[in-house]
Amino acid sequence: MPHVFESAPTGRAKCRGCGATIPRGEQRFGERMPSPFGEGEMTLWFHPRCAAYKRPEAILMALAETPGDVPDREALERTAQASSAHRRLPRIDGAERAPSGQAKCRHCKQPIQKGTWRIRLVFFEEGRFMPGGFVHLDCRGDYFEGNDPREAMLHFSAGLSEDERRELMVAYGADRESEA
Ligand SMILES: [Zn+2]
Ligand SMILES: [Zn+2]
Repeated sequence: MPHVFESAPTGRAKCRGCGATIPRGEQRFGERMPSPFGEGEMTLWFHPRCAAYKRPEAILMALAETPGDVPDREALERTAQASSAHRRLPRIDGAERAPSGQAKCRHCKQPIQKGTWRIRLVFFEEGRFMPGGFVHLDCRGDYFEGNDPREAMLHFSAGLSEDERRELMVAYGADRESEA
């Protein structure tokens, strides 16, 4: 079966990308794939925008194969194109302050100090997103090889308060960038 865009018939499915429930009547994207657990196929449900960040190739293929109206088609295409520009971008799962100093940065291998900002990573394997560790916020330039992770990072940081988001953007250097 091909991938699918549809209006959610129930409010029970959770988005694989962000973990939030997809309300009934909202647009959702179903990525079909062979079940890794045996026979048949399975469908992974996403908010279309979450899939554009985390499964860009799948949603680009689906958009190309879906001739009819897909809400926000152009925005989804733009997001997915940007995310597929570098193999590490779809790993972005948000930003957070390190709750302890135990994790090491995947890029520089140094510990991430407690309380400092880090970017969460996930890896897609056999139909699931697995925790993939963290990188220092300041290692983003090297880890993503110059690609800007900001949009996806903010998109998957819904758990942050307004104040925390402001602090994150200060740490990110957005102030400096906008002055430049
Ligand atoms: Zn989502
Ligand atoms: Zn680092």
